[in-house]
Amino acid sequence: MAAQNQPAFRADQVLAGLHTRHEAGWEGLRELPAVLRDLMRQHFAFSTLSLARQQGSQDSTRKFLWRMADGALIESVLIPASPALYGEGSDRHTLCVSTQVGCAYGCRFCASGLEGWKRHLEPSEIVEQVLAVERLHRSEHPRSERRLINNLVIMGMGEPLANYVNLMAALEVLNAAWGGNIGARKITISTSGLVPQIRMLADQPWQFRLALSLHGATDVVRSRIMPINRKYPLAELVEAAAYYQTRKKGMITLEYILMAGVNDMPDQVAPLARIAQRLRAKVNLIPYNTVEGLTWQRPAPDISRRFHQLLLKEGVAATLRHEKGHDIDAACGQLRLRAEKEIAAALS
Ligand code: SAH
Ligand code: SF4
Repeated sequence: MAAQNQPAFRADQVLAGLHTRHEAGWEGLRELPAVLRDLMRQHFAFSTLSLARQQGSQDSTRKFLWRMADGALIESVLIPASPALYGEGSDRHTLCVSTQVGCAYGCRFCASGLEGWKRHLEPSEIVEQVLAVERLHRSEHPRSERRLINNLVIMGMGEPLANYVNLMAALEVLNAAWGGNIGARKITISTSGLVPQIRMLADQPWQFRLALSLHGATDVVRSRIMPINRKYPLAELVEAAAYYQTRKKGMITLEYILMAGVNDMPDQVAPLARIAQRLRAKVNLIPYNTVEGLTWQRPAPDISRRFHQLLLKEGVAATLRHEKGHDIDAACGQLRLRAEKEIAAALS
């Protein structure tokens, strides 16, 4: 606006139209003079994501597949409140957003890494996942005045901390009072364990929550399913997380997907409990979501329950989560994988 010799309040009007009213295009910004609106339209795309597909219903978990300007596909998942999870209240909705197209870390059980890494998302592409869902909500509930999304989990496709700079730029917008207005404590960043970036995140001023994808409590078990453990073994990872804990108290959750015969044996309980206690962390146990083309399985329910009980007996705050999105492929990367397979089949 300054470059156009426009008063500063014009910028506020654009931000309010974008982030508070969730307008769908420049035509919604009636308060701007038409000439200015046309000029803006020539220089700035209002939104670059288009909805390629969605799954789920309005009051359960909904999954969105977005097509970006270059044709690449990413996904976001909207999860209704689940009070026990990341500190959210009961009228809350959590959006799970992606940070990369594909993933370079190749965890053996994960659909996102299967086709390798394609590119980082731009800050705008991360922010737009939130805006696009808010717009959709507005179009479904025209009289609603409130924002839908109060919590963010950075747990979609990709390794967020590998796209550190763009992620921080996006979170600055999503956190700002003039932007998404989502408190830092309502934002959880999940990582497979990038040690240097965990330390960087500890040293920046925001109080983000950190979710560590542990999935194994000994190096033997973890290295088998997560190649990154060879680069940053558990001792180093726990050290970095302990540093995070000293800077942001009580902000760490350990994610532990239960996979039959891999990490669901009682011998993982004591080492897992030790890590959780050192980090003052809660443990989320999540039965594995099977992925097409992979042979890993979730344990039988009584095996999961036993693992959970043993952890509780060790004095760890642990929850056994029933994977909400199981029926709609909610685990990261799965919707995209399926859509890409179908597109490939249609073209061949
Ligand atoms: N790359 C980051 C964030 C994205 S993955 C990370 O790994 O933490 C988000 C979470 O989903 C991780 O804990 C990941 O291990 C888990 N996940 C991946 N595939 C899964 C599956 N098939 N079933 C259940 N959880 C899965
Ligand atoms: Fe990447 Fe996370 Fe999937 Fe591992 S679990 S391949 S780090 S998205």
